[in-house]
Amino acid sequence: MKRKAYFSARRRHGHSNLQRSHRNIRHSTVRTIPIASIVNEAQDAVCYIDFTCHHLYSNDHLRELCPSMPTRRFSSMEALSAFFLEKFEQNGADLDVVKLLWQELLDKRFTERPQMDARRIQVGERILQLIFNFMTTPRGVFIMWRDDTEAIRFEEQKDAFLAELSHDFRTPLTAITGYAELLTYRHTDDEKTHAMLKLVKQEAERLERLVDNFLDYQRVSYSEELLNRETFELKPVLETIVASYDTTSMQHRIVLTANDDVTLNADQDKLLQLIHNLMGNAIKYSPDGGTIKIHVTDEDGTLVLSVTDSGIGIPEEALPHIFDEYYRVDSDAHRPIKGTGLGLRICKRIAEAHGWAIQADSVYGEGTTFSIYFYPASVTETLPPPEREVYE
Ligand code: ATP
Ligand code: MG
Repeated sequence: MKRKAYFSARRRHGHSNLQRSHRNIRHSTVRTIPIASIVNEAQDAVCYIDFTCHHLYSNDHLRELCPSMPTRRFSSMEALSAFFLEKFEQNGADLDVVKLLWQELLDKRFTERPQMDARRIQVGERILQLIFNFMTTPRGVFIMWRDDTEAIRFEEQKDAFLAELSHDFRTPLTAITGYAELLTYRHTDDEKTHAMLKLVKQEAERLERLVDNFLDYQRVSYSEELLNRETFELKPVLETIVASYDTTSMQHRIVLTANDDVTLNADQDKLLQLIHNLMGNAIKYSPDGGTIKIHVTDEDGTLVLSVTDSGIGIPEEALPHIFDEYYRVDSDAHRPIKGTGLGLRICKRIAEAHGWAIQADSVYGEGTTFSIYFYPASVTETLPPPEREVYE
């Protein structure tokens, strides 16, 4: 009985909703709002181009930004195009860039469904961001104009400041690590001094890494265009990395298994940064020491590099978050180990800029494996997978 009552109540409820929505549709078809008033009332600098009637609508905010963009009807699309190109050129835009942009706009005017797009364009001293909203009924495009000049200038100043800061930070740190190393060798007979100097060197190196991570993260946007790609052999690069940890980390044994003939097309500095971040984590989160394995293999035609440790591991619920900005696992084992929570975010950005994938697998209390999948475009040559046992 109860169940029946439940269903009939729902049906009644559904029916009244339907009736209401029909009323709404009827209502909305009757009352159409003219485009001119939508454009006028917009709180941003906006214009609308009607492709069918060759009509340009603009609002006061846009006319403040560009006085030569009045609301106007044109005799043809060609006349409207000529007007646009002329106005942009008069205001100091590069005509070739504007032509390309305008052509793109015309190509998209018969788009099947509404879509959005954005372009940045330099007009004289100003940098404008144009956000296009293509409409299908009626055929037209809303363009929102934003003056990004100040924001970009601020970004440039921030970049310059960070570049300077990064230089000023690194110079004394390099001196500290250099002298600490020198003194460590001079005091090999005095155990206590030797241990203290080693600690100074280790901590200065850690600070160097933190500064590198933080400043690079702030300064560099890891995009495909900014990569300095070159083709190189992977194994010697990995051997250099392993050698650099052999001296700094006595508690950990590092095992490398990789074929000789694998070449990669990548930004070598960025790849080094990525692997150093993974290695740094593997060592840091294995406080009791242990073996760290760097392994290169071929998985169904994709080259995969993995870094495996037998450290404290990552709890299952934390795994989906570890690539997030400033995320740090909050567990008893993790809490005493310091960091900024940026290393893996940087790794992910470097991998994504190259078109690679990066993945973490872990068992809490047992250890962690990070794998980088170098998708085929980056690999110029791979040999069959190495035989693991032979190398270990
Ligand atoms: P830093 O920015 O100095 O690298 P961090 O090491 O804390 O600081 P990430 O490298 O981004 O930051 O790592 C994010 C979090 O993921 C770490 O705080 C740690 O909790 C966890 N984590 C990363 N690698 C490992 C690992 N190999 N074993 C266990 N936990 C790890
Ligand atoms: Mg880290």
